[in-house]
Amino acid sequence: MLTSPAPSLFLTHSIVGRHLLTNFAFDPDKPYTFCCICGDLYQDATQREVTPESPLNKIAHATLLRKTWASSHAKTHSTREHELLRLSGRAVTPEAAVRLVPFGISPLTDMVLSDEHEHAAATAPRRPQDDAETLPTPTHVGFSGSKSKYPF
Ligand SMILES: [Zn+2]
Repeated sequence: MLTSPAPSLFLTHSIVGRHLLTNFAFDPDKPYTFCCICGDLYQDATQREVTPESPLNKIAHATLLRKTWASSHAKTHSTREHELLRLSGRAVTPEAAVRLVPFGISPLTDMVLSDEHEHAAATAPRRPQDDAETLPTPTHVGFSGSKSKYPF
């Protein structure tokens, strides 16, 4: 019988020294997504503009952008990398934890159950070393011949 792993808890917290970062756009209170293997994090301006009161089409568009990034980014990792993470039973790799903790995203369950994750979180930089990723600006040429690889 196959069973699903227990859900993993993530603790989100403020970014230490956020006020000292210049040209840093990531907003932890707005939608984002991240890679559980390498810790790359995606949030573009569209995500930061979304509020609970936003029109549904804007919220749907922002969601589509995140899913597009996640789908595209997942392909940058090998099947073996995905399988190793799944077999580990952890939500993220220690390498991802090192990149996520400075953004205020701590994989709490992994940190409690794994010394490697606990160490990764404890030794992660206190502030993000770079900003969240964004998708390249799509170029539309019309409905019949879009050059964009993204469906928007
Ligand atoms: Zn990745």
